[in-house]
Amino acid sequence: MHTYAAIPEKVTLLPLPKSVAVHSAAQLTYADCDETTGIVHFTAPSTSKRGSLNTVSLDTYTSHIFCDCKGAQCDRLCWHCCYVTAAWQAHPAVAEARTLIGSRLLTYGKKHARLVATYRQRIGRAGDYDAVRLLAARWEYRQRHAIAAMPLAA
Ligand SMILES: [Zn+2]
Repeated sequence: MHTYAAIPEKVTLLPLPKSVAVHSAAQLTYADCDETTGIVHFTAPSTSKRGSLNTVSLDTYTSHIFCDCKGAQCDRLCWHCCYVTAAWQAHPAVAEARTLIGSRLLTYGKKHARLVATYRQRIGRAGDYDAVRLLAARWEYRQRHAIAAMPLAA
């Protein structure tokens, strides 16, 4: 006998911002990352303040998203937040990690972890090339194991 979680009588979804229809993940530009926190940053030109950039950040470990745009400051869901995960998934490092089979993904991740550690030891910071590939490998590994951990339908 199977038991299921109770389904709430009313599901409340956050309304998508109207700007989602006129923007896309391709409009977010990768800026940098920090492999110690797992956070990747993307930017997009601000429409409220000409000449400045909004920065939206994705925590690749927890999937939490942060944005510094005017909408997010007012607790509104912004298009940056709607698209940052898709922008990250379209990043060349994530696309590359996605193509690697299990053992090669582990080797790839360990290689970049080693390079990141070496650079941190020698110059005090990691190169972005290796850091973003390390985060991409970890992201892809977690994605695969989350899928594998799902119970099979009987
Ligand atoms: Zn935003």
